[in-house]
Amino acid sequence: MSEKTKLTDFNVKEAMDALTNGRVSSREMTEAFLDRISAHESDIHAFITTTPEMALEMADSADDKRARLKNAGETVPSLLGLPIAIKDVLCVDGVRATCGSKILEQFKPPFNATAVQKLLDAGIVVLGKTNTDEFAMGSSTENSAYGVTHNPWDMDRVPGGSSGGSAAAVAAKFSPAALGTDTGGSVRQPASFCGVTGIKPTYGRISRYGLIAYGSSLDTMGVLARTVEDVETIFRLTAGFDERDSTTIDMPISDAVCREGADIKGLRIGVPKEYFIEGIQPEVEQSVRAAVDKFRELGAEIIDISLPHTEYALPVYYLIAPAEASANLARFDGVRYGLRASDENMMQMFTESRGAGFGPEVKRRIMLGTYALSAGYYDAYYGQAQKVRTLIRADFDSIFTTVDVIAAPVAPTTAFKIGGHGDDPLAMYLEDVFTLPANLAGVPGLAFPAGFDSSELPIGMQLMGKHFDEATLLKLAYVFQQHTSWHLKTPVL
Ligand code: GLN
Repeated sequence: MSEKTKLTDFNVKEAMDALTNGRVSSREMTEAFLDRISAHESDIHAFITTTPEMALEMADSADDKRARLKNAGETVPSLLGLPIAIKDVLCVDGVRATCGSKILEQFKPPFNATAVQKLLDAGIVVLGKTNTDEFAMGSSTENSAYGVTHNPWDMDRVPGGSSGGSAAAVAAKFSPAALGTDTGGSVRQPASFCGVTGIKPTYGRISRYGLIAYGSSLDTMGVLARTVEDVETIFRLTAGFDERDSTTIDMPISDAVCREGADIKGLRIGVPKEYFIEGIQPEVEQSVRAAVDKFRELGAEIIDISLPHTEYALPVYYLIAPAEASANLARFDGVRYGLRASDENMMQMFTESRGAGFGPEVKRRIMLGTYALSAGYYDAYYGQAQKVRTLIRADFDSIFTTVDVIAAPVAPTTAFKIGGHGDDPLAMYLEDVFTLPANLAGVPGLAFPAGFDSSELPIGMQLMGKHFDEATLLKLAYVFQQHTSWHLKTPVL
């Protein structure tokens, strides 16, 4: 194995150690990842845009900065020189942000998303922008206008979505970590399908400024990496109050939780019966139940629970998310961003630009959302959905008086075949049954590897926690990863 191949084996922690002790430069590491991307990207298609020149410039300046700070005896920013991939719905100054849509094909934001800015301040190097379903609407990347991403475990299968490019990039070792977003499962489900670890933090924990909006009351930025420790490192740096996002709040995250001696004894894990439904792939259920047993063996207390309104999460989400999307996407009109299909007259510019720029799933959701919000139907659909959302949230509030976290599968199946759901949007929506409730309730969720099925596809499990209690999820998953090796398996490309 050449030195460079080894570098791409590094996870975040190993990469940071190697950079800190001077064993490798950021340029060497960045080149190694770029080389691996060049070698395999045509098979996987994890990226919509790669930024090799920018990455190498950033790496060189990180190396210069490290030398300067070291000489001056000053503190070196924690991630200085670490390469990272970023989902294409997050703004990086000067790099096009397509959101997987033709309507933004040429859009280059003139600013950084707050979370991206924080990571740039900590020293990261941007490798590129990862593939996503158009405007994050989907569960497979098949709705991307730029083609599907292939799952590194099986090229005929989807990587999950919408952050499928990010999950595939981490699984394929194109990048030690990646940023994603999760509106209804888009970090957790692809993490599960690709055998990596991913967090959807509490709503309001990480700023949404510069995250191109899909469903504003549901959207959260999230992190994907190969270990929970790595996820924690990056999550911490992105979190916090931002005056540009009035829904963020300043809540401390308890001290580093992924560390030796972490103790989960006595933590109460609830297992909700509504998450083990008919139709779930038997191997998924078996692996999740085995993982729960492992937690019991490690000292946690396991309690059977019920979240009675779970079955309404899917219809509620598919009213609220499209309703919010229909409002958020109204800004793409041919005037301000990206594509302008015609400028005959104003109406024609609106309709033709939107007609040409949006793909079928986005149009479907705009129509659903506009309908649900229309004067005659608002109370019957949107208003009703909001009420049921409150009940779903109340399920969580009440159960968290008796348990500390909830354990569940991430998705009912492992990665499905590309084209497997054909033209059936409902079959695709069903992929999200176990991830949507956390978004509707605003609670944090963490997905991590817990097994493989008979086709050697990764199986993920999910922990959900109290608002702003990501720490307990991270701690549990950390202890789990200390005692299991599912997360250490990687696909051979
Ligand atoms: N699959 C869900 C949807 O299509 C969730 C997507 C997401 O979390 N961005 O809306």
